[in-house]
Amino acid sequence: MNSRHLVVVGGGMVAQRLVEALRDRDAAGTWRITVLAEEPRRPYDRVALTSYFSGRKPEELELGDAALWDDPLVTLVRDDAVTAVDRDARTVTAASGRTYAYDHLVLATGSYAWVPPTEGADLPGVFVYRTIDDVAALRGYVEKLQEDLRRPVRGAVLGGGLLGLEAAGALHALGAQATVLQVGSHLMDTQLDLGGGEALRRLINAIGIGVRVNAMTVRIRPHRRGGVGRLDLADGGRVDADVVVVAAGVRPRDELARAAGLEVGPRGGVVVDDTCLSSDPAVSAVGEVACIQGACIGLVAPGYAMAEVTADRLLGGAAEFPGADTATKLKLAGVDVASFGDAFGRTEGALELVWADPVAGVYKKLVMSDDARTLLGGVLVGDASAYASLRPMLGRELPGDPAAFLLPEGGGSGAPDLELPDDAGVCSCNNVSAGTIRAAVTEHGCTDVGAVKACTRAGTSCGSCLPLVKKLVTTELSKQGITVSSALCEHFALSRAQLYDAVLVSGVRSFTEVVERFGTRAEGRGCDICKPAVASILATTAPAHVLEGERAALQDTNDHVMANLQKDGSYSVVPRIPGGEVTPEGLIAIGEVAKDFGLYTKITGGQRIDMFGARIDQLPLIWQRLVDAGFESGHAYGKSLRTVKSCVGSTWCRFGVQDSVALAVLLELRYRGLRSPHKLKMGVSGCARECAEARGKDVGVIATDKGWNVYVGGNGGFTPKHAVLLAEDLSTEDLIRTIDRFLLYYIRTADRLQRTAPWLEELEGGVDALRGVVLEDTLGIAADLDEQMARHVTEYEDEWRATLEDPEKLRRFASFVNAPQTADPSLAYVPERGQARPATADERDAALRGEPVLVAGTTLEVRA
Ligand SMILES: Cc1cc2nc3c(=O)[nH]c(=O)nc-3n(C[C@H](O)[C@H](O)[C@H](O)COP(=O)(O)OP(=O)(O)OC[C@H]3O[C@@H](n4cnc5c(N)ncnc54)[C@H](O)[C@@H]3O)c2cc1C
Ligand code: SF4
Repeated sequence: MNSRHLVVVGGGMVAQRLVEALRDRDAAGTWRITVLAEEPRRPYDRVALTSYFSGRKPEELELGDAALWDDPLVTLVRDDAVTAVDRDARTVTAASGRTYAYDHLVLATGSYAWVPPTEGADLPGVFVYRTIDDVAALRGYVEKLQEDLRRPVRGAVLGGGLLGLEAAGALHALGAQATVLQVGSHLMDTQLDLGGGEALRRLINAIGIGVRVNAMTVRIRPHRRGGVGRLDLADGGRVDADVVVVAAGVRPRDELARAAGLEVGPRGGVVVDDTCLSSDPAVSAVGEVACIQGACIGLVAPGYAMAEVTADRLLGGAAEFPGADTATKLKLAGVDVASFGDAFGRTEGALELVWADPVAGVYKKLVMSDDARTLLGGVLVGDASAYASLRPMLGRELPGDPAAFLLPEGGGSGAPDLELPDDAGVCSCNNVSAGTIRAAVTEHGCTDVGAVKACTRAGTSCGSCLPLVKKLVTTELSKQGITVSSALCEHFALSRAQLYDAVLVSGVRSFTEVVERFGTRAEGRGCDICKPAVASILATTAPAHVLEGERAALQDTNDHVMANLQKDGSYSVVPRIPGGEVTPEGLIAIGEVAKDFGLYTKITGGQRIDMFGARIDQLPLIWQRLVDAGFESGHAYGKSLRTVKSCVGSTWCRFGVQDSVALAVLLELRYRGLRSPHKLKMGVSGCARECAEARGKDVGVIATDKGWNVYVGGNGGFTPKHAVLLAEDLSTEDLIRTIDRFLLYYIRTADRLQRTAPWLEELEGGVDALRGVVLEDTLGIAADLDEQMARHVTEYEDEWRATLEDPEKLRRFASFVNAPQTADPSLAYVPERGQARPATADERDAALRGEPVLVAGTTLEVRA
């Protein structure tokens, strides 16, 4: 039969989906397709563009099955942009001079990165972030500068939206100092409210990226060596920059349509109806270039929906565009952010439920209908784990109390399990419902997430639905009595415990080696789940400094700067005070540091002193003073031993039967710096009166007349647990050996982020089995555990001291000072009870209005 000719202009993501959908369904070969692409490569995954910086090659970004382009009914012409459309003759002409006749034309030309008309925007060193060629050029430029300058390259990103933050992450990954300049009042202001934006700013700062809000760039000035030198801001400020990435938004590439006289929207884009037809019935437009239902949409999922509608219509179907799902999730390692539905609560009568934990860097908001039952939207910053489950519930009633979905894991009674209806959308990029995923398991025999992805396409684009896909697959497999995979994540088929053993036995020392030896070869090089988990494993199997080379990039937020991020974006500093014992000289040294740097001081529950309000660039100065005074890191930021709390013991207390302080000091010095799946706390009490509350700790020791009783698996917090007795009346030597083995057995076998209490609950055989392992060596691993702990003790080094001695590591602390001349207005303090505390928003506003509120930056004079 004579096929009709479909010409598609543009070889991007949506064009690829259109060709794939049409060839899937057009078994009769009604249409012959020619795709005319301006870029010199096959359609690739633009959404995953940033993974180019973590080593993904351009070929690895190609979309779909390469065989599609070998189909005799499909022709892909690369590197030949279409220059004109003649609607009367029904032809298009390309830059090569070739002309193509069409029966139907689809414009899938996407968008271009918009560069505001700013003086200097054409200087060498100014980049956009849209294509593989763009990111390759950016990388080449930064690498060259790094060689030439022999100092960190300073990068600025204009635009604090999704794309700007991704670009800043890419600069950071290249080793450049990155500062995001956002014109508006907060980051991601089209997706997040002010509270969410502020929480996001702190998270972004914490991974080493600077942020300036209300920062309008008016001029890009050249450097005398050529290229970019600095940015001038509207408020008179300036930012030094060697490279600039403009991420100020996109505009539809509708120039062909305009020239051909097609109707375009008031803000650009080819106007189409719900069938994707333009004002000319022989021309459709799909993807970002289409102005559908009054807007151009800069997301891939609506584009894919348009591709499906067009394929259906070309084959005589009646499909219509269902409306756009604009839910988004930021793809930046270490920064968990999502926004969906009516995130700003604009629906009439909408109620907002907000949970904010500034210490943990979490801000969560659910927007509910006026009866607080139906989910209308949400914002999740710092912990977007609920995103995958909540987004499909948009417009539906949430079971139980909505607040349960906001509380941290383990909080309250916990979020009820959502039994998603079959028609609930799970993967919006590929329009896959919960029912389709269940059917992949029940009807198509898929037995793991990988198979379900291949079968349904769920989770193959932006990947934000993968946790939910995994949960659905696991539930369906369990229902069928099939053992469910305990794989760490899609990059490792092994559980954390199996991976630990594999890493230990093989002796590999870096994340790259671990991925290469034991990874699944899934797309991407690791994720937020496996990177910190592997960092923690390597910390005990192949100890090295937490900021050493590649390891620095794997760490959780606080480890990045070896300090704890606080609600106002400043940091707290906690020197180790073993057993809570401190000399007067030590106290004076801490007091002087706190006084000189204007830090707020507080005694913690772990019997040490926390100093709050330090700027990141002050951390090395503060630590130099502390190290000189004989202090070392307290690891308050790490998943590692925190403190060993002790009572005063037999030395002073008339009831005491053993020297609890001496033991606590011994234990704290032995296990300091020991990285583990979660934080570890210990306590030692000098008699059964238990003044140190040792049974509320992961390891608690209580003195007896004959020695020591040791308890394990206790914790405070949301779900307090009393530790259970592991062994009685041990000598100090036996006690230490028992704790050594207990800790390392836990570290080897626990899941990621699993504290000792839930680990013990899940341990087959419970505390009896544990006793067998640590006291009777039932697994035959005791000698290994002993040897591993001995190595830990001898190889321990204070990571702050080591950092101060290494200029390379110190660089990351300077990188936060993105505008040294300008005091960060968000770090403002007022006096309270004789100390400084962060100013509230009202107090800051009052200061801005000139009212007499005492507001001071943290830049206090430092005594010589
Ligand atoms: C870094 C980055 C991250 C992103 N992350 C996400 C995300 O997480 N989630 C999400 O939903 N979306 C994301 N997006 C947006 C997503 O990539 C786009 O929505 C999607 O690519 C749009 O597909 P399209 O086919 O309409 O346009 P494109 O993919 O841009 O393809 C259009 C193609 O047409 C070509 N073209 C233009 N004019 C002509 C011509 N005259 N002749 C021939 N060819 C022409 C262009 O060169 C281009 O190759 C991201 C984009 C970027 C750049
Ligand atoms: S636990 Fe016993 S030894 Fe320790 S302070 Fe209390 S009473 Fe004294």
